[in-house]
Amino acid sequence: MAKAGAAAAIDTEALRRKYAEERDKRLRADGAAQYVRLESGFAGLATDPYTQREERDRVTDHVTFAFIGGGFAGLVVGARLKEAGVTDYRIVEKGGDFGGTWYWNRYPGAQCDTASMIYMPLLEETGHMPSEKYAHAPEIRDHCSNIGRQYDLYDNALFHTQVTDLAWDEARQLWIVRTDRGDAFTAKYVGMGTGPLHVAKLPGLPGIELFEGKSFHTSRWDYGYTGGTPEGEPMTGLADKRLAVIGTGATAVQVVPNVARDAQELYVFQRTPSSVDERNNRPLERDWFDSVTGPGWQKAWQENFVANLGVGFPAEDLVDDGWTDLGKRIRAQVIDMPPEQRTPEGIMAAFEDADNQKMSEIRARAEQIVGGEAGEKLKAWYRQLCKRPCFHDEYLQAFTRPNTHLVDTDGKGVERITARGIVANGKEYEVDCIVYASGFEVGTGFTERAGYDVTGRGGRKLSEYWADGMRSFHGLHVNGFPNVFFVQQNQAAAFIANYPHNLVDHAETVACVVRHAEEKGHATVEPSAEAEQQWLDFLLTGPAARLGSTECTPGYYNNEGQGYGEQERFALGHPAGPLGYFGHIDQWRKAGTFSGLDFA
Ligand code: NDP
Repeated sequence: MAKAGAAAAIDTEALRRKYAEERDKRLRADGAAQYVRLESGFAGLATDPYTQREERDRVTDHVTFAFIGGGFAGLVVGARLKEAGVTDYRIVEKGGDFGGTWYWNRYPGAQCDTASMIYMPLLEETGHMPSEKYAHAPEIRDHCSNIGRQYDLYDNALFHTQVTDLAWDEARQLWIVRTDRGDAFTAKYVGMGTGPLHVAKLPGLPGIELFEGKSFHTSRWDYGYTGGTPEGEPMTGLADKRLAVIGTGATAVQVVPNVARDAQELYVFQRTPSSVDERNNRPLERDWFDSVTGPGWQKAWQENFVANLGVGFPAEDLVDDGWTDLGKRIRAQVIDMPPEQRTPEGIMAAFEDADNQKMSEIRARAEQIVGGEAGEKLKAWYRQLCKRPCFHDEYLQAFTRPNTHLVDTDGKGVERITARGIVANGKEYEVDCIVYASGFEVGTGFTERAGYDVTGRGGRKLSEYWADGMRSFHGLHVNGFPNVFFVQQNQAAAFIANYPHNLVDHAETVACVVRHAEEKGHATVEPSAEAEQQWLDFLLTGPAARLGSTECTPGYYNNEGQGYGEQERFALGHPAGPLGYFGHIDQWRKAGTFSGLDFA
């Protein structure tokens, strides 16, 4: 039945049918097994093209705090712990420098996709003013280095080092950290911030090893081959090259305009179109920045952003972009509703109407900017949050260039790779270079992605403890694993669009707990089994609707259309959303009693 009101022009039922048809086209029996790891052995694809690995002596000392991962998580936890007086903090990082995702992702056009003002952590502490509303990768990477320098995090860091094993030594009440460089050092506390998207994946295409040209994953961009720089210098090496990009996700959306500019010919292989709304990026002005910042400004901005994405009614929208637009539309519809219709079902219907309008506008954008058959094929037929929403001012425009060809595969994807190129829709496209914009592993077990297991009290393995899904207290502490902090989003402010907000908040908690333990002279801190169970029970009272609906087009949000497996079924957030979590934790920290944690 067509809906009345603001969405009158949209036939909701017809749209639902269309979305279901498009989803069905993309469903595959092999689900997430269609992908293989970057490390699976293709020459050159898995190496670090950015930093020379240096030989060093093995490390066998002791530190108060070891953190695994040198991205935002390790940096912000380090900053807060240094402020709390922990001087010997060590980051162990598999890349050659700090940055995490921003170390690896140097592809042309990489930039943050939530606003710099809320995305770049510790802006207040470092005094950095982002140059653009959405800063580009080199600036974010520099920011990471600056945090490292400002808080002396380089001193103790181990780069190009992967943890292989983490074991609790009950007798000494310490963690033993072993690495692939032969290190075996001890730490009183361990933090883990290995990131949700750090294991690059490739489509497991037949013939992928046969290709005789150049190929690399977007997170291992080879500027030696393409020419140019991450800062945007033209990639002169591509001037006489036929280039293929496989994938049209958030990464490809940023890559395509740049390679379209520089390559002789560009073929973009599409399985599912992304929704690409306008980005409206612009430089930030010093006068404006000074006028909106003051003590506590960044936290206020981050909270305002979350509030604008939620169902509350914040008085202002500080970020004011494509992310907050959807929230504003839903609220506008709810405000227009007679009070008796403001039921959970009524609000869900308003959400669907607002989404349908938004997606119709985004589809119209593809038609207006690109037009023709390509414009039709670039239309995304699913609800906006089924996939990471994309925003870009030059992506769609790239398809109007004569050298840029969209190869839409109607949901089937690339068939195979040959020595000379790519086969799709039964046709071989000969190319010189293949760029795999094929994303990162999601939905596998934590220890599988992290690359090491954790052995806690009594020999309990984390992989076994979490075999039926994650269990934690506040998403940060786990029973049986004393003095460990999991700096990630599940069972905390899950599904937050601005991921670093969660990390900054966790960092505050880690510092608060460690400071308390150190001041009181405790050897261990650990959540009780009861507190952990109560937290899980509380999370399970939340709404069932969440990211990962199997009604969505397949992708990593919904385990390639197959829904959550055992590992992911407790990938929950606070029932009242991220703001509910932040509010809860703020109160918990302020109370100072640390209820749920046992100190000994
Ligand atoms: P995604 O997993 O989102 O995209 C992978 C792409 O590869 C999809 O378009 C997928 O198609 C396609 N693909 C896979 N196999 C085939 C095949 N056989 N044939 C054709 N196409 C294929 O990875 P991204 O790297 O783009 O993004 C991952 C996440 O990283 C984002 O969702 C976002 O969270 C984050 N990100 C953040 C950015 C930022 O903050 N600036 C920028 C970029 C990424 P299909 O959709 O059909 O599966």
